[in-house]
Amino acid sequence: MTAPAALRSTLDLIGNTPLVLLKGPSEAAGCEIWGKCEFANPGASVKDRAALWIVRDAEARGSLRPGGTIVEGTAGNTGIGLALVANALGYKTVIVMPETQSREKMDTLRALGAELVLVPAAPFSNPGHFVHTSRRLAEETEGAIWANQFDNTANRKAHIESTAPELWEQLEGRIDGFTCTAGTGGTIAGVGLGLKAFDESVTIALTDPYGAALYNYYACGELRAEGNSVAEGIGQSRITANLEGAPIDTQFRISDEAGLEWVGRLLHEEGLCLGLSSGINVGGAVALGKQLVATGRSRPRVATILADTGFRYLSTLYDREWLTAKGLPVFPWLE
Ligand code: PMP
Repeated sequence: MTAPAALRSTLDLIGNTPLVLLKGPSEAAGCEIWGKCEFANPGASVKDRAALWIVRDAEARGSLRPGGTIVEGTAGNTGIGLALVANALGYKTVIVMPETQSREKMDTLRALGAELVLVPAAPFSNPGHFVHTSRRLAEETEGAIWANQFDNTANRKAHIESTAPELWEQLEGRIDGFTCTAGTGGTIAGVGLGLKAFDESVTIALTDPYGAALYNYYACGELRAEGNSVAEGIGQSRITANLEGAPIDTQFRISDEAGLEWVGRLLHEEGLCLGLSSGINVGGAVALGKQLVATGRSRPRVATILADTGFRYLSTLYDREWLTAKGLPVFPWLE
């Protein structure tokens, strides 16, 4: 066993996350299901990668200058990543977030020194939506850039240049399928494009929660949502610039109940404390694994994203009253 290399910069802690074989999901699918441990990033989510690439891209373009400000609208994780990267490079951050996100994310952003602006949840067509509010704030702030994670393709470039090559190397060039959910779409599109560049035959599947429009878009060309979900950070209703040209071969839809069951099993049986998007990702990976087994591939290997830590959701997913109020099943050990 070799120890990870010593690093010269805290920013080098972003990426190069471990990949772990998930026992329960592998047994359920009848193949190998691997989880990319994105909760091991310094900001405890997959969004640290997008944050670093967006900031480096803005520096390279000359739009972000020393002492400047980074403004972003986010469900929280991108803000946490941006705040850490900004601290390491001497920038300020202003984060606009819908007030429906978890209390832990708000507390974390304040603790990291970001200026937090909370807005009521609103549809994208409403000018008060957190994304539009953040764009306006960036325009009004001297020396500020708008990170614009949804339509800034530096986001997906992070996954083309880091996540995909890491997966390819960690699985020694043998990977049959990859799936994850989409928020901005940066992860699914970037990993999809990156893996296809290594091997065109890797199956890329979108996993969608209910309440999002992408499942129907990839299944029948129509952006149409059905049902709803309490999962944070995922669920998209439009084709963002990051999603344009994403090489999606197939799609699955996974309910909150099914995702929560995986969250509970991964915690109780494998010692991994994760957020709900990770549970939905694992549900999608099991569905993809079963499909690849059914088409006759021998012992296929499927990878997915363990997107963030469950410690970010102690007041929601891991809280009996909250689960009960949402009509969701309560983990037996919380009863
Ligand atoms: N899971 C969580 C917990 C997230 O915060 C996000 C980002 N919004 C995603 C998944 C989706 O990642 P992406 O934006 O790359 O589609």
